[in-house]
Amino acid sequence: MAVNQQQLDYLSAMGIPVWISRDLPMPDLFKEQALGSDLGLSERRLPVELKGEATATTLSEAGLRAADELIKDLQQTTPIKQIAELAASLDDAIESKPQIISQNLDGVDWIELEKAVSQCTACDLHEKRQHTVFGYGSQRPSLMIVGDIPRLSDEQQNQPFTGETGELLSNMLSHLDVNADAVYFANLLKCRTPLDNSPQSNQAASCLSYLKQQIKLLQPPLILLLGRSTAQQVLGQDLPMVKLRQRVHELEGLDVRFIASYHPAYLLKQPRLKSLVWKDLQFIKQVLTNNG
Ligand code: SF4
Repeated sequence: MAVNQQQLDYLSAMGIPVWISRDLPMPDLFKEQALGSDLGLSERRLPVELKGEATATTLSEAGLRAADELIKDLQQTTPIKQIAELAASLDDAIESKPQIISQNLDGVDWIELEKAVSQCTACDLHEKRQHTVFGYGSQRPSLMIVGDIPRLSDEQQNQPFTGETGELLSNMLSHLDVNADAVYFANLLKCRTPLDNSPQSNQAASCLSYLKQQIKLLQPPLILLLGRSTAQQVLGQDLPMVKLRQRVHELEGLDVRFIASYHPAYLLKQPRLKSLVWKDLQFIKQVLTNNG
């Protein structure tokens, strides 16, 4: 007989992991007695985590005895091999959790970096990509523009900022008097996300080392970070765009300045924000002039 949720709660209160108790036979005491029933026995309260919320549950002596019974059952009858298999299945579950794999790319040159990205399997996004989108543009840029993710048309054309998003970005750049030939375009992530969702933090963190190496090799004086998730991940600041924009940011170990603004893909959905971006462009222009 399988152990049901109520019984699992008791087991959990007794410190018996669910991963063990789900796969073990039901001890006799559980079969015969309704746990927590009104047997007229004294009760104790123990803290239990239920459905992610800290709560308290009332345990009867019968329930506690039943849990003791299960512990004895575990100790006496569960073959070591079965416990080892269960422990291994727990290890598998832990390993399948999203992990952050940061790369040591010190000394890696441009060609090696591009190859490393094309072969990367550091996060789950490699499974469904057609290919990676590394970036394109000037190798000595006066401005680097970094978005969040390659979208479908970007992947198809193997470059960031294609389609309507790219057109809007070109319009924005024309206000800056920056020649597109003097710009390098890249994304924080080099692989598409399903449905063009914002990157998950483990995906962004795993991919960030590639972007940082691109920055080290290109040495742009100024980087425009487009989109909240891009700015938050690159700058390591969990702030809304309203607090990230209109400021110059710096990062330890990188001789470059950063400015954040809204992503053109977002502007296409929220055109009313264009007036804010107009102000951001004026700010960027001023910083570029002072750099210049
Ligand atoms: Fe690797 Fe980045 Fe692609 Fe993830 S998104 S697989 S870290 S290249």
